[in-house]
Amino acid sequence: MHIFYGKVALIAYLKTIKSTNSTLGFVPTMGALHQGHLALMQRSLKENNDTVVSIFVNPTQFNNLEDLEKYPRTLEEDVKKMRGLSDKIILYAPSVDDIYEGNTMSQSFDFDGLENQMEGKFRPGHFNGVGTIVKRLFEIVSPTNAYFGEKDFQQLQIVKKMVEKHNLSVNVVGCPIFREENQLAMSSRNERLTPAERKEAAIIYKTLTEAKEVFKVKSPQETIEFVENSFRNNERFELEYFVIADESTLLPVEDKIKDKNYRAFIAVFVNSIRLIDTISLN
Ligand code: AMP
Repeated sequence: MHIFYGKVALIAYLKTIKSTNSTLGFVPTMGALHQGHLALMQRSLKENNDTVVSIFVNPTQFNNLEDLEKYPRTLEEDVKKMRGLSDKIILYAPSVDDIYEGNTMSQSFDFDGLENQMEGKFRPGHFNGVGTIVKRLFEIVSPTNAYFGEKDFQQLQIVKKMVEKHNLSVNVVGCPIFREENQLAMSSRNERLTPAERKEAAIIYKTLTEAKEVFKVKSPQETIEFVENSFRNNERFELEYFVIADESTLLPVEDKIKDKNYRAFIAVFVNSIRLIDTISLN
């Protein structure tokens, strides 16, 4: 496994392995790797000649300092997990300075409104941070294919939009959500839950699947009320938002229209730990 901590050496190395028809896969992560991340890597390894994985906790996409400071950093463990998967992975684990060169600021993006709801609404500045880091990483790695999880569905749509608007020559691939045994969506933040919280966090996906059934026969508003009521008397889990949106515009839906694809999005706090999940409603 090749490990690079600086972009200059990484770029030089990538030049030596690139040939006319070779493809390069890329999996950006913030580390504390779990099975969901490894599944993205496996797919990239299968579909490309070479695969770069980045591990970088990007400060500009955090709107909450405590969340940034407490974000798990487990590079040694992560390297072991990647070695277990394949010794072909090229790891890029830069410092903040290697990426931001002394100016740790976000660029401003226009994602045609995709950024205004849900994560964008509740985490001001988040998607400018995401756009900034993903664009910068794309410029450094120049991948053929880049792999993103549907767990962060809004992020996936936003990255696709950025690629389109900035004419970047990378193919963005969305990958299914990996779940724990109790169906809790895998997340690096799950490591911060107590065993009891982690077990009980099954309520998030359970409520989403119930909401999907409710949505089949009821209005969007009635489905939202169903979910809000499910969390109302729960002392451990605090609902931040539940939104039903059109999958392509991400705008909240008021009335169902035939042949449109809808998706439900949820964010829940357990103590100060924020968990998100999503489900297709079609
Ligand atoms: P993160 O390290 O949380 O920034 O995630 C890095 C990439 O892994 C993103 O594209 C995420 O959407 C994806 N990812 C995170 N959790 C999961 C999961 N449970 N299943 C599939 N992909 C995931």
